[in-house]
Amino acid sequence: MAVIFGSNELAADVLTGGLCVGCGACVDLCPYFKSHLGRTARLFACDLKQGRCYAHCPKAEVDLGELAQACWNGPYEGLPLGRYRRIAMARAGAKAPKGNFQGGGTVSAITASALAARTIEAAVLTGREGLVAVPMLVTDPNDVTGAAGSKFMAAPTLSALNRAVRDGRRNIGVVGTPCQITAVAQMRQNPLGREDFTDPVGLAIGLFCTWALDTRKLMPVVAECVGDTCILAMDVPPPPAEIMVVDTDRGKAEIPLSKIRPLVPHGCHICPDMTSEWADVSIGQVEGMPGWNTLIVRTAKGDQAVDAAVHSKFLEVREFPQELKRALEKAGAGKKARAVRTAAEEGRLNTTGEQNRAALRMPPAAIERITGHTL
Ligand SMILES: Cc1cc2nc3c(=O)[nH]c(=O)nc-3n(C[C@H](O)[C@H](O)[C@H](O)COP(=O)(O)OP(=O)(O)OC[C@H]3O[C@@H](n4cnc5c(N)ncnc54)[C@H](O)[C@@H]3O)c2cc1C
Ligand code: SF4
Ligand code: SF4
Repeated sequence: MAVIFGSNELAADVLTGGLCVGCGACVDLCPYFKSHLGRTARLFACDLKQGRCYAHCPKAEVDLGELAQACWNGPYEGLPLGRYRRIAMARAGAKAPKGNFQGGGTVSAITASALAARTIEAAVLTGREGLVAVPMLVTDPNDVTGAAGSKFMAAPTLSALNRAVRDGRRNIGVVGTPCQITAVAQMRQNPLGREDFTDPVGLAIGLFCTWALDTRKLMPVVAECVGDTCILAMDVPPPPAEIMVVDTDRGKAEIPLSKIRPLVPHGCHICPDMTSEWADVSIGQVEGMPGWNTLIVRTAKGDQAVDAAVHSKFLEVREFPQELKRALEKAGAGKKARAVRTAAEEGRLNTTGEQNRAALRMPPAAIERITGHTL
């Protein structure tokens, strides 16, 4: 069984330990954890020996072998893209609500379709207030596009899920980055064995992610480049561009990635998941094809959501080119290898003992596959 500690250990290992990625999984479970401008803080200490905050956190004792058994009924193998049923190219179809999508609008289209069909009753999304990424809970399919577009910052999205669960909502759709979807997957296993637990999640829609940025560190960098303007959208074009593009009401600004990379939280450097492996469906860009998305369908529920969206003309799908699949696998494998090496070097991988807690656990065979040799 995964080792579960309480909020004192979470504060020590993840908050002061520099691993927090601001996902919001510990926020609004209790009155003690809050998020402000993208950062999570613990306002008061709590002496519970085990807490949901620790159990759900994607940077504290995450046991991928155990998650794989629970989600896939099989071992964690360290596959570059995780387990899946099919990969396709996709984009929003003719009947989907129109929006300022990041790519093809696949995320918004599947979410809106599931809400319209009442497959899910509400969806947890991430909107924007100024530069700050903020959680949103929507119930109307037409409101989904209010969250369209990527905010390339760590966001406390899952605090909205915690609040929705507390308010008695069930069958909730969640759109999140891989760390957020990992937290959701852990939460769905009822790690503390609560007798009154029911799985509140109806559909987990994962994004691809290589890194996110610390909002507070990003603020002065953006202000220096574009001044005090209204941010409309952000994009990170594929290599060799080496820039982040910030679209404002006064025009586009380009920020060199050399200025952006130091703003990535350390927790991203031990993140082994590029494609939200614990989601029902995972969605990312297609390199060189801006109006399309990569769509990975992983579960029966994901299959049903995609088929329903296609049937209702909310979604359009096409075959995924083999050469792009190889490039995607290479990128996914590369992220895993970097994360495993960093976690091992820092003593955060498969360590044991109360004084030597791990951030990440995975079976030796998976480590061997990922790194090419046993660490
Ligand atoms: C931090 C981050 C890093 C990413 N890195 C990559 C990458 O390396 N490679 C890649 O292919 N794709 C990456 N993506 C995903 C990509 O930018 C698009 O989100 C994805 O292709 C879906 O496009 P879409 O047109 O379907 O999205 P849309 O239909 O426009 O919907 C976007 C969805 O993203 C959600 N969202 C926006 N910002 C955040 C956030 N900060 N946290 C959680 N959810 C958010 C919104 O709730 C919305 O539902 C990243 C996204 C984020 C947020
Ligand atoms: S990573 Fe998420 S769950 Fe963990 S401490 Fe930070 S905000 Fe809380
Ligand atoms: S790189 Fe990993 S930890 Fe960082 S934001 Fe993306 S999914 Fe979360």
